[in-house]
Amino acid sequence: MKRRIAILGSTGSIGVQALEVIEHLPDLFEVEVLTSFNNAELLIKQAKKFNPNAVVIVNNEAYLYVKEALRDDDIKVYAGEKALCEVLEMSTIDMVLSAIVGIAGLRPVYHAIKHGKTIALANKETLVVAGELITKTAREVGVNILPIDSEHSAIFQSLAGEFHNPIEKLIITASGGPFRGKKRDFLRNVTKNDALNHPVWSMGNKITIDSATLMNKGLEMIEAKWLFAIPEEKIEIVIHPQSIIHSLVQFEDGSLKAQLGLPDMKLPIQYALTYPHRASNTFPRFSFNDYATLTFETPDYDTFSCLNLAFNASKTGGNAPCILNAANEMAVQNFLNDKISFLEIEKNIEKALEEIPFTTPQTIDEYYESDHETRLFLNKKMNLE
Ligand code: NAD
Ligand code: MG
Repeated sequence: MKRRIAILGSTGSIGVQALEVIEHLPDLFEVEVLTSFNNAELLIKQAKKFNPNAVVIVNNEAYLYVKEALRDDDIKVYAGEKALCEVLEMSTIDMVLSAIVGIAGLRPVYHAIKHGKTIALANKETLVVAGELITKTAREVGVNILPIDSEHSAIFQSLAGEFHNPIEKLIITASGGPFRGKKRDFLRNVTKNDALNHPVWSMGNKITIDSATLMNKGLEMIEAKWLFAIPEEKIEIVIHPQSIIHSLVQFEDGSLKAQLGLPDMKLPIQYALTYPHRASNTFPRFSFNDYATLTFETPDYDTFSCLNLAFNASKTGGNAPCILNAANEMAVQNFLNDKISFLEIEKNIEKALEEIPFTTPQTIDEYYESDHETRLFLNKKMNLE
């Protein structure tokens, strides 16, 4: 039986790579659903190639264009946010791969879990915002959440056969981003192009900026906390510029297990799709000749204070990680739109965390309320300045 996959955000960096993986394993997978926010051209191209059961274009304005282009194909076309959830109810879907960016991925994944679909999760913001509710619901329904984020895939792979052995510590590696080794004086003047120039990974714009501020590692720490049920104190961040060791688990006997490989997202994507099996592929292989040295550094928490903000928000719990995420999404967008400077990203997040009242959301809607409140707050703040 082929595994039938729905890909949310198929037109993004992870979505496109997921389709490359699937294309090379035609005996294992069938594409059931493809979705995009706005990229009608690529969605149509993908639909014609993979012939899914349905596509969703979230932006209603592009609906007629997509519908017309797929007129002669046997593919259902839907539009809007609601359709993004409802389409996941189809009984022909076995697994939902979420490669949406930001909190927009939360509701569809929650909906898919409720309907018993296995989740392959790239969209870390889902767990950052509502990790407690999402993991609790997945446990209740009995569905697996398989990580795609390379660090979490490495931890997950290292835990194979170890599920009864307590974890002493998780060590998440970070490339350090384009500003590794720089100080705040330097960061004051960096531009959008400097920040988008990642030394190792080629990814969507939002996560690339998160990698430059190191907020990405903060988000990944929270993601790991929920995926592996580990408190913040037992998660350590280590800078490893070559990005060959993708993360490690330390067990109670002091033994460390890690997963290594070239920095290529197709590897963790494929593992999540084929789990618990592995499938052969022709991706480039690691060679010691190319990597004579692997190096490690302690993160500079004074310079990259987004890391501290994430640890503190995570310890506070409640709506704090949701505020952290919403403020970060908005600040990154404002930075990309040349409205604020690089260092103002962390200032905005700090302010939102200070000013917005603490609550303990219990439902998805309550998380979205906190998200909305944060965005309103930052919008007002921007207009005052
Ligand atoms: P991207 O910006 O390249 O793609 C995002 C996708 O989501 C697009 O298909 C877009 O159409 C869709 N989308 C955007 N806004 C949406 C909305 N409001 N509603 C519905 N769909 C929407 O992003 P990416 O780099 O592929 O990252 C996707 C997710 O995977 C992020 O959460 C990121 O943190 C995570 N991730 C990415 C990488 C990577 O290498 N790119 C690695 C690890 C984790
Ligand atoms: Mg990662």
